[in-house]
This record gives sequence, structure tokens and C-alpha cells, in this order.
Amino acid sequence: MTLDGLKTGACGRVIKVGGEGALRQHFLDMGVIPGAELKVIKFAPMGDPMELRIHGYELTLRLADAAKIEITPIDSIAETPQPERGRKRPSHPGLGEEGKFHPKGSGDPLPEDTMLSFALVGNQNSGKTTLFNQLTGSKQHVGNFPGVTVDKKEGAVRGFKDAVITDLPGIYSMSPYSSEEIVSRNYVLDEKPTGIVNIVDVTNIERNLYLTMQVLEMDIPTVVALNMMDELTGNGGAVDVNQMEAMLGVPVVPISAAKNEGVDELAAHAVHIARYREKPLEQDFCAKDDNGGIVHQCLHAVMHLIEDHAARAGLPLRFAASKVVEGDGLIIDRLGLDSNEKDALEHIIVQMEKERGLDRSAAIADMRFSYIRKVCEKCVIKPRESREHIRSRRIDKILTGKYTALPVFILIMALVFVLTFNVIGLGLQKLLELGIDSLSGAVDRALTSGGVNPVLHGLIIDGIFEGVGSVLSFLPIIVTLFFFLSLLEDSGYIARVAFFMDKLLRKLGLSGRSIVPMLIGFGCTVPAVMATRTLPSGRDRKMTIFLTPFMSCSAKLPIYSFFVASFFPGKGGLIMTGLYVFGILMGILAALVTKKTVFRGEAVPFVMELPNYRLPSPRSVVQLLWEKSKDFLQRAFSIILIATIVVWFLKSFDFHGNLVEDSHSSILAMISGVLVPVFRPLGLGDWRICTSLISGFIAKESVVSVMQVLFAGDLTTMMSALSAVTMLIFSLLYTPCIASIAAIRRELGAKWAVGTIIWQCAIAWTAAMLVRLVCMAFGLA
Ligand code: GDP
Ligand code: MG
Repeated sequence: MTLDGLKTGACGRVIKVGGEGALRQHFLDMGVIPGAELKVIKFAPMGDPMELRIHGYELTLRLADAAKIEITPIDSIAETPQPERGRKRPSHPGLGEEGKFHPKGSGDPLPEDTMLSFALVGNQNSGKTTLFNQLTGSKQHVGNFPGVTVDKKEGAVRGFKDAVITDLPGIYSMSPYSSEEIVSRNYVLDEKPTGIVNIVDVTNIERNLYLTMQVLEMDIPTVVALNMMDELTGNGGAVDVNQMEAMLGVPVVPISAAKNEGVDELAAHAVHIARYREKPLEQDFCAKDDNGGIVHQCLHAVMHLIEDHAARAGLPLRFAASKVVEGDGLIIDRLGLDSNEKDALEHIIVQMEKERGLDRSAAIADMRFSYIRKVCEKCVIKPRESREHIRSRRIDKILTGKYTALPVFILIMALVFVLTFNVIGLGLQKLLELGIDSLSGAVDRALTSGGVNPVLHGLIIDGIFEGVGSVLSFLPIIVTLFFFLSLLEDSGYIARVAFFMDKLLRKLGLSGRSIVPMLIGFGCTVPAVMATRTLPSGRDRKMTIFLTPFMSCSAKLPIYSFFVASFFPGKGGLIMTGLYVFGILMGILAALVTKKTVFRGEAVPFVMELPNYRLPSPRSVVQLLWEKSKDFLQRAFSIILIATIVVWFLKSFDFHGNLVEDSHSSILAMISGVLVPVFRPLGLGDWRICTSLISGFIAKESVVSVMQVLFAGDLTTMMSALSAVTMLIFSLLYTPCIASIAAIRRELGAKWAVGTIIWQCAIAWTAAMLVRLVCMAFGLA
């Protein structure tokens, strides 16, 4: 039978993994190999995808993909072995070993002042960024979602001059499945770091060591950091570190990145092995006696054959050989083999497949997992089911329950928005506004009594204070929104949302993973666009980026509140919610229209790990809020301040440099006047509105600051409520700001960036027009 036929709670053993290409390789890399035992945990509320437990962790995949995996049902899997009574716990060296190095020969050190560069390699969500922050003292964002680190980041290792470390995107294997995996492996292959810090999540050790096996093949000095030791020992587990070092042939340092334990030892080991060029002592993980040594012979024959080519291409031999056997096209191309050699290789590999009874990629994956099993049997005392895991299961009963998942999601999102806009944000905003007003009043009085030039006075009070002040007062709302978004992400909830929304999103032509960039899009489009890098297919990436501008970003909030306060006081909640929902609906519409045309093709398979729920550390939350506030303040006092001043000047002078009485004859009125005919049908045919919309392209918040400067006095007398509505719709949908466009250009190129500007403006204009017509038809004007 196939995997999708198993019921909740049933167990099976994998017989054969079907499918093809990168997806199949990904399955194998995630541990879905012949012989692996698994248990069905549950199905998503809408029946698809399913969640499995395999190699001690939770994996999700779609039924359509599960149908390609053949299994035989078994009674149970050895799920949570109790710590064996009889076996004595090895004396544990503790967290870190206080700088005791392994006697591994200390000849041939690099010259004294060589720059040491380290690559931090590990699975997604294994604590890489946490460790990176500890090692470098920097403040990168930590999240509890597979794939939060989307860019590589570099930092100097604290306490060592001449040592830098690069935080690479999290990967499960060195096979080219997602763009992250290619980025990470090319970094190691091409940049040739002097050392690798391979971080391993011990609570999930089997799957994590799978990457380690491949890292060791890279033939670069490596130290293995066993992270999350606190969780393992806290639940009765232990690791025989010395034994593991012997079996892996590299230093192994138990650490807890979150608690900063063992990190100094790790750094010392890393610097030592890099300086003394201590390469891994063990690479030959294909045991001679395993299954008659078939895989072993095959690998060594291949190594023999490609030795010269690998040296010429600058590839580590053992790594190249195992990739060649797996059938990795990129590596085979780099080796530049002639057709004779390719034939010979093919012959060797086919022979191996026949004798081993497994195809090439499965045979290699099986070889690696058998070695891992041996290592774990010898060195690891498995913990009982961890408190964190029990807790996660309980929470999941509700948060991903069949009937509760969707209502709870809606409730949580509603709560987030109500708290942000009505309770916390608003209260703080009032307070801040009061402060700004009184400051502005005080400055006003001081300027007047000081007899300051009226032009300068006007610039400071009506320009800077009005403009920047009006934007500044939104700081609390925006920070509060980011606070909740980061809480959802750090806790591990968004991974669940991706799990149960997958089926819905597939109807739009996307996969559940796209939900993450979209939710981030409610905060800011720039990180949202960057977060799409975790999606394994270019098509999904493009489509998700195409849709993020429909998720109303937090910089548009000031615009909404500004108009609501002027035109619809008291109806803020209703109108704001309406705008958010309208944006989402437009996004859905756009997706439905484009999925059969521009974005033809299948959504990526949904193969993802569900992390345990974790309480975000207060430190990382505070850090994030601080970063966001700083970011916002910087924007307010740079881009927005400048835009405000420029606008103030342009509206105060005419082309002859004379101060104008009435800003209708100013430079600004002339320039923006060009756009007036375009906006007249929308009821927005006023040069001041056009100006504010143009400035909104630089930063959305400045729509408000510019309006404040230009419409001194009451807005309601100069604009109808109907125009306010079209203005809101237009602002909601028109081109994202320049920073987002730059991000899109980085990801997809200039054509897409320009395209985004054009179609978002076109969509915005059309939607605003339609809404206007509908309002007029219903006599709402
Ligand atoms: P990355 O995706 O590999 O960069 O992982 P992160 O650094 O973002 O961490 C993922 C999650 O693991 C976060 O929720 C961290 O707080 C948590 N974490 C990291 N290190 C430790 C540790 O040593 N112990 C425990 N209990 N949790 C940790
Ligand atoms: Mg990270």
C-alpha cells in the first residue's frame, strides 16, 4: 500500500520511494528512505497535507506526494525509548570542555596572521542564528520557523581577532533542492572557508547528522556543535561526546546557544582546527562489510575514476563521488567528464543498484543513515519524550485540530489587529501625539518670541513638526504590530498555519509555505519579499512576490487612520478591517487570474518540518522591537523629513524663486498638476493629493506628512467623503514603496520591478474607480 492510505495513528515501514528528481532526493534527504519507520500523527483540518513522525521528528507532506511512497503497515515504531536502566550514563564532559583540545597533531599551522573564515552550516531551525549572535555579539533575527535566515550574514567572532563567521541559510542536505541549499553548498565549495562550524540539533540528531555526513565529505576542518543540549539533558538524555568524536573524526562540542553555554569552547575549538588545518579524520562512512560492501566498492571505484577531474574542478573528492553516484547534475557538469568516463560511471552505478536492490540516491541515503544509526546507538542516550514536545502536542490538539484550527486562526488574527489598533497601539499613540503637540507648541512660542524669520518659522512648524510629527505618532502601532507578528513566528505557530492553509493556498496555485512571506507582508514588504527565498521553486517565488503588495503593509496605517479620523470618526475598526480584507480579496482575485496564465505550473511540494512550540526569549523579542523602532525612527528622520522639507519648499516658492502667497501657483502645483487629469475621474483631481501620492512612492507614511503640510486646515472642506474612500482604496493597492521595489528587483530583476509599479498602479486605479462607481450607484455619495 502507499503512505496516503494509512490512518491517523497507524505506523508503517517504507519499502520504496517513488517520484523523481529533486523532490525525490528531498524525501530521501529528509529521511524517508526504504526501511525507515514512520507513524501518521494527523491530517490537516482540510484533509491534506498529512503529518508524520519519522526519525524522531515531525514532517509534513501532501497526500499526492505520500501516494508515491510505498509502505507496509507495522504495529508500532520505537517512538520514545525510555532511557535504558542497565546502561550506565557515560560521564559527561559537561557543556563545553574548558578548552581541552584533542590530541590530534598540531603540525602545519597557518601563518600567524591569516584571516580565518568560518561557515556556520546546519539544518533549518537548529539554532544557527542564535549561535551566530552569541559568537559575534550581533543582533540577527531569530525565529522558530524553518527558513527564517534567508541571506548569508557575516560577523567577526568575539574574542578572536582575524576570525569571521558566516551564517548560511539552513539546509537539510547538500543536494540542490532549494535555492538555499545551492547557496550554502556553493559557498562552501567556492569560497573555501578555512573552517566549518556544523550545528546539530541534538533533540533531532538523526536527521541533523545527515547533513554532517556530507559536511565531513567536504574535507574542510570542521567542528560539530551539538546544540539544544539543555533540552536533551533536561529530559534525561545524554551524549557520549568522546565516543562521538572518535566516530566522526572531528571535535564535538555540546552547547546551548540560547543559554550561551559551551559557546566559548566551541569558538576555541573552531579556531584551533582551522589554524592547524585539522581536516576530518573520518570520511569513509560506507562500511566495508555493510550489505556486502556494495556501496563501498561503488563509491571507491567512482572516486578512483573521477580523481583527476575533481582535483581540476577544485571539488573535494569524496563529496564529488557521492554526488555523482546520487546523480547530481550540477556536480557532474562541473567535473567535465567525457562520454567514455560517463559510460564507465554509469556502468558501475547500475551494477551497484542491481546488487544492492536500491536505486542510486536511495542507496547513498541509506548508507548515510546506517552510519548515523550506528553513531547514535553507540553515543546517544535518547531522552524521554521532552516536555517541550508533550506541550507542543497538547497545543496542537487545538491549534491544528480538525474543527478548531481555522476559527482559532481567525480569532488570533482578529485579536492581534484589535489589540494593535484599538487597545495598545491607540493608547500609546494618543500619549505620543500629546507629547509631540506640546513640544510643537513650545517650539512655536519660542520661535515667535525669538522673532525668527516667518519663512523659517513656517518650515519648522508647518513643515517639519506637522509632517514628521504626524508620522512619528504611528510608531507605537507599528511596533505593536511587529511585536505580535514576531510572537506568532517565534513561537512556531506560523509553521502550523502553513500546514493547515496549504490546501486552501493550493487552490490559488501556491503552497502553504507562501503564507509566511504574506503574513510578514502585513508588517513590511521588504522582508516579505526576502522571505520568499525559502520557497523551493522560482514559480512560487515569483507568484508570492507578486501577491505580497496586496497585503497592506504597516506603513499604510498612518494613511488609513488619517482619513478615518477626518472623515469617518468612530468607524475606524470597521473601515480598517474592511481595507485589509479588501486587499486580501484583491490578492486572491489576482492569484486566480494569473495562476492559469502568467504563473502556469504546479505549486511546490509541501515537505516541511514542524518545530516544537517554543516560548520566544524576551531578549530576542526586545531586540526585534528595538530594531524596528530604530528603523522607523531612522526613516522618519531621514526620508520622510527630507520629503517633507522638499515638499514644503516646492509649495512655498514659484519658478522665479519668489515666496508665493497661495501655493496654487507654486512649483509643486505646476509639476504635480501634470498628473491631475489622471486622477480627476477618481475624484482626486487635486495637485496636492497627487503630490502626496507621489511622495508615497518614496515612503508610504509620507502621504500623510505631505497632506498635513499642503492642506493646512480642515481636510473635510476640501475633499468629499467619497473621494476619501477612493483615496483609501488607491493607497491600499498602488505601487509599493521604492525600498520594496528595490527588493523585488534584487530577487526577480528590473523587469519585474518595473512591472510591479505599473500593474499595481493600474489595479489600484481600476479598483478605486469601481468602488467609486458602486458607491455612487448606491447613492453613498
Ligand atoms: P536557525 O533557523 O537555525 O537560524 O535557528 P534560530 O537561531 O532562529 O533558532 C530556532 C529556535 O531554537 C528559536 O526559537 C531559538 O530560541 C531556539 N534555540 C536556539 N538555541 C537553543 C538552545 O540551545 N536551547 C533551546 N532550548 N532552544 C534554542
Ligand atoms: Mg536563522
